[in-house]
Amino acid sequence: MYIYIRAMKRSITFEWPLLPGSVSTARSRCGKPGCACKGKPARLHGTYYRWTGFIDGKRTTKTISQQAALECQRRIRNFRKLQREIERVVRAALGEAPWLPRATESKRGKKR
Ligand SMILES: [Zn+2]
Repeated sequence: MYIYIRAMKRSITFEWPLLPGSVSTARSRCGKPGCACKGKPARLHGTYYRWTGFIDGKRTTKTISQQAALECQRRIRNFRKLQREIERVVRAALGEAPWLPRATESKRGKKR
């Protein structure tokens, strides 16, 4: 028995531009003796902004400006929304998997 369902098109709408990865911040101490970053209380260098993600399969970190970091975060939010949308579609697809009994279309779509 074949289970045949006519091919259908579905669309996902998402916000562009996208960016995978994540943004992090760091503050640090340098190597200069007597620098304020070693004082008490310490005045650390930074804040530094970093984007981390995979480029061509390689984990990559880039130091970016605060302004770029804000833009990265906006794009990352768009990317994560798209990922959630894809997960939703995949769950729906699994809910209609070929091994599950079908409600309405089975009669029309069945072939011998
Ligand atoms: Zn320093």
